[in-house]
Amino acid sequence: MQTVDDILKIKKVKSTAIRTVVLTHLLKQEKAQSLKDIENALIYTDRSSIFRTLKTFEENKVIHSIEDGSGMTKYAVCAEGCNCAPEDLHYHFYCTSCDKTFCLFDVPIPKIQLPENFKLQQANMVAKGLCGHCNK
Ligand SMILES: [Zn+2]
Ligand SMILES: [Zn+2]
Repeated sequence: MQTVDDILKIKKVKSTAIRTVVLTHLLKQEKAQSLKDIENALIYTDRSSIFRTLKTFEENKVIHSIEDGSGMTKYAVCAEGCNCAPEDLHYHFYCTSCDKTFCLFDVPIPKIQLPENFKLQQANMVAKGLCGHCNK
């Protein structure tokens, strides 16, 4: 398991107090976090600093964002070695009962056949259903 310091170093992101706090929080979560989730968990940190930190992380491929259809962008830490390239993209799972979104790192998205000269940059593949907890 990579530490916060390892990740920031590998992704060449300068370590600051807020970045360390936000990444530590994200690493501990089993589900993807919205800005609001993070804001609620880190009560001493203001929303705009958290948002800026998330943008920096996203630009540097520390985390990826997920549009799960809930209307709130969620964020999750990238797997080790991820470059957020098309071959690194994976399915996400949205639980319709508890609203949690999970990364399915072991389920890569299938190769998408595109018209000539089209270039894939992002794909938002979300499977929906009940998570293990809600499906009891
Ligand atoms: Zn659930
Ligand atoms: Zn993910």
